Amino acid sequence: MHLDRLRRTRERMGELSVDALLLSVGADLPWLTGYEAMPLERLTMLVVPGEGEATLVVPRLEAPRVVERPEVFSVRPWDETEDPVALVAGLVGPAERVAVGDRTWARFVLALQDALPRARFRSAADVTGPLRARKDEAEVAALRRAARAVDEVAVAMRSRPFAGRTELAVQRELADRMREVGHRRVNFAIVGSGPNGASPHHEPGDRLIGPGDVVVCDFGGVVDAYCSDITRVYVVGEPSAEVRDTWAVLAEAQERAVRAATVGTPCEDVDAAARRVITKAGLGDRFVHRTGHGIGLEEHEEPYLVAGNRLPLALGHAFSIEPGIYLPGRFGLRLEDIVVATVDGPERLNGAPRDLAVVA
Ligand code: ZN
Ligand code: ZN
Ligand code: ZN
Repeated sequence: MHLDRLRRTRERMGELSVDALLLSVGADLPWLTGYEAMPLERLTMLVVPGEGEATLVVPRLEAPRVVERPEVFSVRPWDETEDPVALVAGLVGPAERVAVGDRTWARFVLALQDALPRARFRSAADVTGPLRARKDEAEVAALRRAARAVDEVAVAMRSRPFAGRTELAVQRELADRMREVGHRRVNFAIVGSGPNGASPHHEPGDRLIGPGDVVVCDFGGVVDAYCSDITRVYVVGEPSAEVRDTWAVLAEAQERAVRAATVGTPCEDVDAAARRVITKAGLGDRFVHRTGHGIGLEEHEEPYLVAGNRLPLALGHAFSIEPGIYLPGRFGLRLEDIVVATVDGPERLNGAPRDLAVVA
């Protein structure tokens, strides 16, 4: 698997005329090697030349964590008194077109630019992004397990009381439940109640949830290295006619976007499918973000479902579809599922009920 990924990476480096690929912290490195670098002041960097052996330059004390894959890369541990930047520069050699991982610390990029004065740098995402975006069967299976896990949490919350609790208390419960159902890491748990729900990425606080409150819960984490991400909305008691009607618009928008997400459809058309429904209801200016983002080893990655992105969806693309409607000072609504583009059309990985959940 890793060998095949390396082969495809090199192919793409050739297409983009990239002479050397440099990967440090971030998801590109584990995708290519199975090894995740520690975010440390000590540099870890995989050097992939266009031809010849790939080398993982790694601090000596981190080396025991590396699972060696000699067919993919060799390991070059460095000692505390060595200069890892010089080591990397030596491996890059006379290469002039260098692609460096997006999340590489600026201090290392700056040092590498000094050490390689003739090199021109570009983003490694140009190389790896499109490759990582298309998931193979094992990756889709991992995303499915992650989706099923958060589904369980979303369903369990339907029979939990919300009134009289703070957003923080609900956030804590979401995080605990995510771990219980197999998440190794919780990436985020947004709980936006009442007017706070109108801020899409509201940071949960001490607000006490009360009768009539609409509560947006958007949460996700990591199961078997792959991410989950789901949004469901809970209402304390019977929702008002306005909340119900607005939800109907949102649910219709989400459904339209999911159905539009077929192989070959440009990303921006999926966004437009959701936006059309919301705009027609007179709420177009209340849908303030893109319709979705790719998901995989990272919670946000390519492809992005946004106006202007003409990229056609391809087999194995996995992404969220999450339109929202936000009424400042009053309430917010968002509905999010993870979807994969398959030969049989769009497949929703999340299966938790998509209605407005009435809670106590
Ligand atoms: Zn978000
Ligand atoms: Zn989300
Ligand atoms: Zn999302």
